[in-house]
This record gives sequence, C-alpha cells and structure tokens, in this order.
Amino acid sequence: MNEVKTPKKPLIFYYVIVMLVLMLLNFLVMPGMLQASIREVDYGTFMDMIDEKNIGEVEVESNQIIFTDKDNTQIYKTGPMFDPGLTERLHESGAIFAQEIVEQASPFVSFLFSWVLPIAIFVGLGQWMYKRTMNKMGGDSMMFGMGKSSAKVYVKSSAGIRFSDVAGEDEAKENLTEIVNYLHDPKQYEEIGASMPKGILLVGPPGTGKTMLAKAVAGEADVPFFSISGSEFVEMFVGMGASKVRDLFKQAKEKAPCIVFIDEIDAIGKKRDGQYGGNDEREQTLNQLLTEMDGFEGNTGVVILAATNRPESLDPALLRPGRFDRRVPVELPDLKGREEILKVHAKKVKVNSDVDFSVIARMASGASGAELANIVNEAALRAVRDGRKVVTQADLEESIEVVIAGYQKKNSILTDHEKKIVSYHEIGHALVAAKQTHSAPVQKITIIPRTSGALGYTMQVDEGNHYLMSKEEIENKIATFTGGRAAEEVAFGSITTGASNDIEQATKLARAMITRYGMSDDFDMVALETVTNQYLGGDASLACSAETQTEIDRQVVELVKKQHEKAIKILQDNRKKLDELAEYLYEKETITGEEFMKILDGTEA
Ligand code: ADP
Repeated sequence: MNEVKTPKKPLIFYYVIVMLVLMLLNFLVMPGMLQASIREVDYGTFMDMIDEKNIGEVEVESNQIIFTDKDNTQIYKTGPMFDPGLTERLHESGAIFAQEIVEQASPFVSFLFSWVLPIAIFVGLGQWMYKRTMNKMGGDSMMFGMGKSSAKVYVKSSAGIRFSDVAGEDEAKENLTEIVNYLHDPKQYEEIGASMPKGILLVGPPGTGKTMLAKAVAGEADVPFFSISGSEFVEMFVGMGASKVRDLFKQAKEKAPCIVFIDEIDAIGKKRDGQYGGNDEREQTLNQLLTEMDGFEGNTGVVILAATNRPESLDPALLRPGRFDRRVPVELPDLKGREEILKVHAKKVKVNSDVDFSVIARMASGASGAELANIVNEAALRAVRDGRKVVTQADLEESIEVVIAGYQKKNSILTDHEKKIVSYHEIGHALVAAKQTHSAPVQKITIIPRTSGALGYTMQVDEGNHYLMSKEEIENKIATFTGGRAAEEVAFGSITTGASNDIEQATKLARAMITRYGMSDDFDMVALETVTNQYLGGDASLACSAETQTEIDRQVVELVKKQHEKAIKILQDNRKKLDELAEYLYEKETITGEEFMKILDGTEA
C-alpha cells in the first residue's frame, strides 16, 4: 500500500542554531572587521614617532591612545602611560588633536547589523521552513510540528485487504458490509433519511482480526484509510493530544469519504473518574474526540472504526448514540472459523495436498486468528528445517504443540523414575476424562518435556463448539484436572510438584462455579464476583463481604476435594488399565487418542 507519513520537523533547532550563529557574528567578527586596519605598537614607538615629528593625528583616551603617522597612511594604537609632558610634546611635534580617528560605524549601520539583519534572517528562515513543511504535509501545520496527528494515511490501493482475506467472523463482516455499502452509495441512505452510525466499536480478544477487518472495510469500499493508535494521542503536554484529534478529523474530512481507524481506543477512552490529579492530557484528548464526533454530520462520509480489548473500561459518553453506538463483537473463531483461517494462511505457504485442516482446527481449540497464522508459519519453518519443500500434517500438528507448550527439549533431564511418574500423571488425566461420560476424548498424550516447563501433557479435543457447559461437565473437568495427582497417589502413594498447574486451573473453575455461575447450593443466583477483563484473561474481582469470602473458600475446597476423590475412585476401579496405559506411554513417549482408546476398550472387552 502506498503509505504517506506526516513528518515532524523539530524546527526549534533550526531557529536556535541561526540565533547562535548570528550572535557569534555580532560579537566576534564585526568588531574585528572594524579594527583590522589598526596596528598596535608599544609606548616607546609612540615616543620615538613624537620625537621624529612623525605624528599626524592623535586621540588620547583614558584607556588607549590612537594616532596616525604624518602622511595618514596607517592608524596606530598604544596603551596610555603616566606621561605628564605628553600634550606639550605632541603639540610641539605638530600633531593634530583629533576627535575620532577610527571612525565608528555609524549608529544606523550598527543598528542595522546588530538588530535588523538578524531579525530579518530569522524571520526569513522561519518562513521558508514553514512553507517547506506545509508543502510536505499538504495541509496546515502547528508550530514546531507538535500537535500534528501522526495518523498514517493509506491512500486508495488495489492491493488493499478485502473481506475475503478475513476468514470466519461472518457476523462481523455482515455488520460491516452495511458500512461498505454506505461508502459506495451514500445517496440511497440519504434519500430515505437514514444516517450511518458515526462510530463503530470492534471489541474482542487480541489477535482476532479487528485491525484486519477495519482495513478490509476500507479495501472493499475503496476509500482512504487513516490508522492511528489511541496511545499516539497521549502526549507529554496537556492539550497536544486534543490538537492531534482536531487535526486528524480535519484531514479526514478533507479526504471524505474515508475510514478512520483508532486502535486500542481504551488508551484515551477510559472512564473519566473525576479524581483530583487525574490524567488531564488523556481527559482533554477524550473531550476533544467527543466534541469532534458531535461536530460532524452523520453523512459526511467519515466513518470511524475503533478497536479495543477492554470495552468495559470505556467512558459511557463515548458509547452513547451518535458516537460509538454500534458495537461489533469480534470473537475467537469457532471450529469452522479456525479451519477457514488456517486455509487462508495456508495459501501463503506450500502445503501437502493431503493435509486435513479440520483435524488441525480441532486440535487448536481456543486459538485466535493471530495464533493460527503463527501455527501455519511455524509449520513452514519446521518444514524448511527438515529440508522439505512442502508443509505436512505432522508439521502443523507439531507446531500447534510448539505454540501451546513450546519446543521439545532435546536432551531429556528426567530420571527413569520421574518419567514413570509423568506417565502415570498424564494417563491419570486421560483415564479420568475418558471414564466420565461427558468429557471430551483424548487426542494425544505425550511425556516429551517442552521448553515451557511442561514435562508432558494430555491434549483433549472438543468434538464441536461448546457454548454452554452444564454443572456436571464443569465438575468432570475439575475431576480430570485432579486426575494427574490422583494417579500419582494411586500408583505410588506419594505426591509430587507436577500438579501445580492442574491445581490452579481446578481451583479457578471451582471458584467460578460458586461466585459467577450460581452453581452452589447456598448462594443461589447471586454474583459474588465480577469479571473485569473479559477479553484479557478474564480476571475477576470479588464483590462480597469477608464472611462470604470465607464461606466461598470453604465451598471451593469442598468442591475440588469431592472431584479429587471421584478421580481417585475412578483410577482405583481401573487400576489395571492405568498400569497398562502408563507402561505403554512410558515406552512410546507419545501416544495418540486412538491407541489410548484401543487399549482402554481392549482390556475392557
Ligand atoms: P487485532 O487487531 O484483533 O489484535 P489483527 O487484526 O491485528 O488483530 O490480527 C493479527 C493477525 O492475525 C493478522 O495479521 C492476521 O494474520 C491474523 N488473523 C487474525 N484474525 C484473522 C482472520 N479472521 N482471518 C485471517 N487472519 C487473521
């Protein structure tokens, strides 16, 4: 794309340098020029010249004596001495007492040199710089280039991103198609009196394609695309951000119809809390944005798209009708979406024809678009590393594991006994999962240590998309998390540190059941916790009294304990299979879900 960046010139430096040069000229060179023709001599020479009656004119001052020779060909200068008879001797020698031998530059000329000229040069240079910057920017400019919006302008280009490049996200695309239609043909909307929403907020987790969608809208509508990040508005000086906003809108209106995309709008759009000593610059910037959005009519052809991961933190004034009143969720892709995204990115690399993308998509559950793009790239890198020309299914599968758990550790540091424990631990998870009716089947189990620190892991695969989870399913999930530790207990009668991550996850789920999903007996449908960061990890903050917290903690422990006991029971009941599977995994190091199920079913039969 043809990207035009607006330059920022630190004009102040030019001004300072010019000033310094002029001052130096004034102080050093000019007096030197005037005095260049005067010869300095000692007092003896002066006395000799008097004796020789070789003095033309003389001027005796308190700090110097200036005189010429008889023919007035040279001006001399010497310092004064205590010489009482000097005046008489000079008179006798026929010298003429003069007033100003060295003609001082006339006051007018010196004024011209020391004041008018520097100012003239200064102003002239300023004008020149100003014009130059203006020509480059193609618009007006703030003094010293500050307060200029640094929005990047993507000029119309046929190489732009289109909707077809954004895989999945059908709802978001459908929503945005209306904007494209409007930018193509605003008349049909104006005729009926409808006005387009001025601002559209794209909300969703990182890497789901929000920026891509905004670019695709511009690409489809074939209009210029201004892109700026919210944080770029916030400057050191109060008021600079606001002037950047003004400037951005001015540019946008000139280029209308066009799309302005503000990424990470929460950087400026955070709720104004009104606390003393708040962030003045940010608030002023936000106020300016609000004013600008009110200021232009709905049908000027400027559509503002903004993206954020934290919609809950935005100021309500920003979300009211007439501003960002339309919200387009850009969620993590579902199974079909993941498959499509993989296919889009696989087009950029050479992929073997027998690659089954649905399997890969199934394995990469929960991955965002950006992660999927990364998976394809990792697979391509792996193929090159192995000296192959095409990407294979194995490359893609391995790269999912790389993205999830890091690279394989080459020189295993596990002792034999440790390896055995890890085998039991992983089989414990898988067995508990498989034995509970609602748990998803196992895709793969491995005990090859990874760079992320995982000594092994069990990859479970969701059969389809899950939008709702029943209480039993969550309980089963908790039991599966505890399955690893349970297996260690059942097989070895001792426990290890290997379960720390499982413990964390089980606790998180159990807590959510009680505080957020209303799945406890005592609290009914009371929200005891609120999610503060829906798209960024889902952190929650407690909203209850200390006594209730104690009760929650008690119930969380009870819940996890119950599931842990259930897991132990399952493993004890299937002790034979546990041993057999753990032995098999210990030897093979990696087994597939099918192998696992075969052994499980085989021994049962
Ligand atoms: P966001 O702005 O939501 O954080 P981006 O739009 O910057 O995410 O996406 C980052 C990268 O992820 C893109 O450059 C693209 O390669 C990939 N990506 C994300 N979502 C999709 C998608 N739906 N289709 C194709 N590629 C995607």
